[in-house]
Amino acid sequence: MRAVTLEEVVVDFGSVRAVDGVSLEIASGEFFTLLGPSGSGKTTCLRLIGGFQYPSAGRVRIGGRDVTQLAPYARDVNTVFQDYALFPHMNVRDNVAYGLMVRGMGKAERHARADELLELVRLPGVGERRPSQLSGGQRQRVALARALINQPSVLLLDEPLGALDLKLREQMQTELKALQQRLGITFVFVTHDQHEALSMSDRIGVFNRGRLEQVGAPRDVYDRPATRFVAEFVGAANLIDGDAARRYADGARCALLRPERIRVGAGDGARASGQVAGAQYYGAFTRLSVDCGDVQLAVDVANAGDPELARGRTVHLHWQADAIHPIEAGE
Ligand code: ATP
Repeated sequence: MRAVTLEEVVVDFGSVRAVDGVSLEIASGEFFTLLGPSGSGKTTCLRLIGGFQYPSAGRVRIGGRDVTQLAPYARDVNTVFQDYALFPHMNVRDNVAYGLMVRGMGKAERHARADELLELVRLPGVGERRPSQLSGGQRQRVALARALINQPSVLLLDEPLGALDLKLREQMQTELKALQQRLGITFVFVTHDQHEALSMSDRIGVFNRGRLEQVGAPRDVYDRPATRFVAEFVGAANLIDGDAARRYADGARCALLRPERIRVGAGDGARASGQVAGAQYYGAFTRLSVDCGDVQLAVDVANAGDPELARGRTVHLHWQADAIHPIEAGE
């Protein structure tokens, strides 16, 4: 069952083509992430699904029904915005119940339902407070409860964790994913954070300049990127070109080798050797920059109490044959 379909969608803002012929199918119950750098068109795509933006060309379907020309309220979707967009003059319960009030549901019933939703997002007992009396993470949960109260078949989330500090962000990632699985609602999630996309999604669509460069499961996108852009945007990447690619990658035009797939070891059987040109400490691991003559390789070394590898020191590098992924597409 398809929850959302985009068919050859184009959005022009004057001379700027924000979305350039995007086709996409999102399955019912899927956690689908639109990932890409700033300005790549992900928010515009989300707004197309929500009905806040009409396409210059192409069609939008929700649950198989053509909604291209329908207003937001006539679609079976709801949106959680990055700034939460809560009503400051209403208390939390009325904020959450807002969608039911608009539909004409009686006060007692909608308040009871709002309290259930606050329970669901683990915020019981705050119904009387104003949004300004809550922390950022709590406001985020209220926004989520408000968007879920109408039981939409699709929930759209536009960088919903962007304003939270790292620790809270990680906690909310886990909670959001668990909630999505429990409710079975289709989530379409926008982020520019690759870690967030990799850890939460069933599938990811990677955007670049208004186009979808690749759609796939997190492991596909990370291990088998279709283009140079995807390889570099999703994770740290050694992209090997030219003579080095021919040597290390069986004649490929370009190849990807992730830093964590390279191991420092003995000289015997090494695939490459070079000098440590730099080291960046990240706590759990150190990223070495190793100068191998015609190629400079980033190498991640786990920090397990071993002495630091000094700059200028010669190291021998090993990797499994399947660590090399040829990339033929992209600029
Ligand atoms: P971000 O992560 O910064 O939100 P994004 O990937 O979501 O970026 P969009 O907001 O979809 O990107 O924008 C895509 C392109 O369209 C950008 O070049 C942007 O400047 C342009 N754009 C978006 N909205 C409008 C608008 N209302 N009028 C004119 N240009 C717009």
